[in-house]
Amino acid sequence: MRKRFVGVLAGAVLAASLIVGCATGGRTGIFTGSAIGHGGTLVVEADVRRGNIRNIEVVSHSETPFFYELPFKRVISAAVNDGNLNVDNVAGATMSTMAIRAAVADALTAAGINTGAMMLPRQHHTPQNIQMTADIVVVGGGGAGLAAAVTASQMGSSVIVLEKMSMLGGNTIIAGGQTNISGTEQQRRLGIADSPDLHFQHTFEGGGNRGNPELIRVMVENALDGKNWLESLGMEWQDTVGSALGALHPRSHTPVLALGTGFIDAYQRFIAQPDSNIQVLLDTRATEFVMQGGRVTGVRATNRLGDNLTLTANRGVINAAGGFGSNVAMRMRYDELWDGRLDHAIPTTNHPGATGEGILMAQAIGAAVVDMGYVQLLPIGHPATGSISHLVIGLVEQYIQVNEQGRRFVNEGAGRDELVAALFQQTNSANYIIMDSRVAPIPLGGAADTLVAYGHVHRANTIAELAAMINMEPSILQGTFNEFNAMVDGDAQCPFGRILFGERIEVAPFFATRRVPTVHHTMGGIVIDRYARVIDVNGNIIPGFYAAGEVAGGIHGNNRLGANALTDIFVFGRIAGESAVLGR
Ligand code: ADP
Repeated sequence: MRKRFVGVLAGAVLAASLIVGCATGGRTGIFTGSAIGHGGTLVVEADVRRGNIRNIEVVSHSETPFFYELPFKRVISAAVNDGNLNVDNVAGATMSTMAIRAAVADALTAAGINTGAMMLPRQHHTPQNIQMTADIVVVGGGGAGLAAAVTASQMGSSVIVLEKMSMLGGNTIIAGGQTNISGTEQQRRLGIADSPDLHFQHTFEGGGNRGNPELIRVMVENALDGKNWLESLGMEWQDTVGSALGALHPRSHTPVLALGTGFIDAYQRFIAQPDSNIQVLLDTRATEFVMQGGRVTGVRATNRLGDNLTLTANRGVINAAGGFGSNVAMRMRYDELWDGRLDHAIPTTNHPGATGEGILMAQAIGAAVVDMGYVQLLPIGHPATGSISHLVIGLVEQYIQVNEQGRRFVNEGAGRDELVAALFQQTNSANYIIMDSRVAPIPLGGAADTLVAYGHVHRANTIAELAAMINMEPSILQGTFNEFNAMVDGDAQCPFGRILFGERIEVAPFFATRRVPTVHHTMGGIVIDRYARVIDVNGNIIPGFYAAGEVAGGIHGNNRLGANALTDIFVFGRIAGESAVLGR
């Protein structure tokens, strides 16, 4: 990607501050610097006049959209406006922050500027006590919280969103993006039979018949309306529909923008409108829900400057603080499915902020929890990071999973619980996702060329070549392809019961990505009713308090259907926003 990202000196007023870190005998000219980022090489150009930084421009990079913007902005603005490079890493975009800082330092060093001095801390801040009021206070700026905030705003309420990380998006922005909705135009065009009833049945049975039928009904019956609403906010979907991993049926819709960025992009554009009346406080962590006279009336919080905030909500507080996939102690304490395996040895797809404090803070004011023992794993974690990024994958119809010997070992269309249980039985609990180029593969985490160049993905023109790359016996892998293609042709039955087939896998180049089990979703959480009202340990509604998204439990039973999480969060996020405004 060639992208101009510019920080320009705001004006003469700032000239004095520039001198702080810059004017130590520097030179004049355009100086180039580079560093390796998350996606590849990042190159910047610095326009420097006699040691003063006038302008810094990113001339090329391969960083992930939505993740690079904030680090680029912060580092370039700090360098140009303050003559400083002492910028905190943006959580979730650490490599991009480090890369932009290193590239800028590289260019400025070439200009003869003392970048060591620019690394020194900036001036001290005296913590303040800050009081703020809005109709609605939302804790958590992921998919559920932002759906709630936008809905409340559309109904005329003022909203404050607290987000403890430096960027919005939570787990939502790094989710695969596929979303289960039945009865869509896309499904109709492809002749796919589906209905809310079938979606209900798959969700309930897929979750071990343990989900709350009333909540599942609400989710499946409001999914299509939610899709229309997202489209009204500018979100776009691809025409393809198929089955996401563990989705059981072709009702998974893929946004046009990568991963979950399409959702967050639509919400952010709404929030950016001058009349949205939504104020987002980043780097601001809620620490406590405030109760007065049996009602939740606000939130206490702190921010990265150490300020203490008290947020008062005239109408309601919405808890959308997500799950606890990144909290190893909580995983270990509650797990009932994975025999104590959820320690540090298992990575997670989750962002580092998925630590479950939304659940703990709610429990502290009497909220009930449900299904806490049900933690979902995925079979497609990056072996080093656990992320679902940096792979080439498609819908289930388009790929096979093979073990290290090159043999299939599971019905790729099964539920996630079955897929991971089978994977734990394989050598090193590892498998390869293998697909061809017949249907455009979905490369996650960069262009396929970049993923191949950095060794995340193997690509070969023949099956024998692919087998050699991933240390498999070519005849075994070829045999696996032959057997699978016979199943596609209807000439053979899958021994594992696979029923989701697309086309033969036979068109070079072939892709293979090595993957291991990774913690993905926590099905348990706060008990809510159909209006997203929080229920206490005695079964009563806690007035003024609502919860939506991964922080809430009870919908997905002991195994969430693939692609149901995003549906859950926009459906219940909207309901929470509406309920809070209406004072339900
Ligand atoms: P969901 O899919 O349910 O919306 P996400 O993980 O996408 O869940 O979003 C939850 C968001 O809540 C994350 O961005 C996370 O950083 C944020 N969060 C978690 N705990 C707190 C807290 N104590 N204060 C503010 N934000 C929080």
